[in-house]
Amino acid sequence: MPDLILWNSIASRRRSPSDDFLDNGLALLKAFVQARDFEVELADWARSSRWQKLTPRPLAASNRFLASLLIPGENTGKSGKKLFRRLAGPLFLLSQEVTTSIQRRRLDRMLRDLALRVRDSGCRVLGIKSWYGEAYRSAKELARRVRRFAPDVLIVIGGPHASIYQEAVLEEGLFDVVVIGEGEIALAGILELSREYRGREVLLAAVSAEAGRGKLRNLICRSERPVAKPLIEEGEAGSKAVSGYEDFEGKTRIHVIVDSQGCPWGKCNFCTHTCIYGVHSLRDPESLLDELARMISAGIGIFRFAGSSTTLNQAGRIAALIEARALKLTFSMFVRAEAEARREEVHQRIVATYRQLLRSGLRAVFMGAESGMDTVNELVMNKGAGRANIIGTVKAMRQAARAEGLPLDIGLSLIYPAPTLGRVTLEELLAENISLVEQTQPDSVLVSPPAPFPGTAWFNEKERFGFELGENFVREMLEYDYVLYKPTYLWPEIELKLEGRGLREILGLCQELRRALEDRGFVTEVTDEHFLMLRAAGYAGKEGAKKFKYQALLDLLSCDYRWINQLQQRVNQASLQLAAANRK
Ligand code: SF4
Repeated sequence: MPDLILWNSIASRRRSPSDDFLDNGLALLKAFVQARDFEVELADWARSSRWQKLTPRPLAASNRFLASLLIPGENTGKSGKKLFRRLAGPLFLLSQEVTTSIQRRRLDRMLRDLALRVRDSGCRVLGIKSWYGEAYRSAKELARRVRRFAPDVLIVIGGPHASIYQEAVLEEGLFDVVVIGEGEIALAGILELSREYRGREVLLAAVSAEAGRGKLRNLICRSERPVAKPLIEEGEAGSKAVSGYEDFEGKTRIHVIVDSQGCPWGKCNFCTHTCIYGVHSLRDPESLLDELARMISAGIGIFRFAGSSTTLNQAGRIAALIEARALKLTFSMFVRAEAEARREEVHQRIVATYRQLLRSGLRAVFMGAESGMDTVNELVMNKGAGRANIIGTVKAMRQAARAEGLPLDIGLSLIYPAPTLGRVTLEELLAENISLVEQTQPDSVLVSPPAPFPGTAWFNEKERFGFELGENFVREMLEYDYVLYKPTYLWPEIELKLEGRGLREILGLCQELRRALEDRGFVTEVTDEHFLMLRAAGYAGKEGAKKFKYQALLDLLSCDYRWINQLQQRVNQASLQLAAANRK
């Protein structure tokens, strides 16, 4: 009989080809509590096979046909297709509505079955990993059903979404405890108490009392009283070793490995990281290498470093060990622009470290540039990195790649539109963003709209940054779903304004920058994890990235995932082959 059932919440349709990477967070939780003699049952639904089941095949195929007429890309210029495009729009929207309603019904049935499993298993705690949008709706639906079928089970919610919205997820009374950031110690503590305190309310009272005494951290309990801010456990990246995976079915063989926790800077005005992780901590490179070796022997050769911005020193230490042990693998990581990157001495250090990183398997990086204007990066973003640092760091990376004769995909992310504080105009910001991209020539640009998440400076000092947030803003954001198949003018408005502009206008401006970059030949919205996948599957150069983007979009819009599933097979084969090369 399991003590705990852990469930990875999903939406009824995929959002990205990388949705089904191996989930190291759940693997960590499971290993941690199992080591303390608790039995855990894992329900990780983020698998290609699951999503496939949610859409009837003929409907998916007809969606694909309609989507292929609508998406600008391959062959859309042909005159025959042009004739159909006008007709296809309304038909496509109608068929999407039908698809969504069938998917929701199927997902609801799966949720009911899981709630019954929770009841029949006799477990005492249900743990939910939460994600945004419709996946959060699924989490609520499951909680509602578990409350009905198994009222004595304590429902704990954690994961990225709950960690951002914290006490707001408890408002409806569906979840009992929200865990913020690191969950394993809190979850093990709750399970320990569940041995002694039986029944949901009794257990909740015991958990709440322990949290009040400071013995359980990183959590908030459902309560009638106003909630106190939780004590946050200091991050300890060193304890993050994943022992292994048991079930590869429908998963992409890419392992996300913890190299550090928190952020060495931790002061960006829009970032939720510091609200979730207290301090920055580094993983011991030797322990990271042991985990890499374990994963390689389990047939995984592709990795993504989990750190929000891996420092040059830490990356260099890891690369040196990979080289020393002659491991064959590929990986990607998030980086920050280096301070004084244009100074010769610093430049040489960046080049030398990236050369070593490339030799050890680095193939993609993603850097938060945020904007091409120093005034904005300093006063609006508090980025701690200006245009010269971004340009200098990218230049050094390119030099390293040329010197080693190895490929490196570089992604930049921008936030547009952004608060202007009356210091700049949006037109100036747009032009400077474009000129930064032209100067750095990244392989992809990710453009995001501004989002004042709870806990950030943008949220706490909203007036100063020009945001107007209504009373329902947090509640609306909790549930907001980006409906990929709808044009932005059909997306619901929420109680958010930036300098007088509503959400749709903000999204429209964001799209304007994307289009301006695409018109200049740049690839947009392909992330480092996408690069890992598409290169592993054999898509080369800029054309390969464009092909990936087009095909993935077609699959995501149509819910006909045949191309993404084939991609997954090719990535898995490449990952297995890389891992096997270590045995020769
Ligand atoms: S945006 Fe990146 S650099 Fe800034 S605080 Fe967050 S993680 Fe750190």
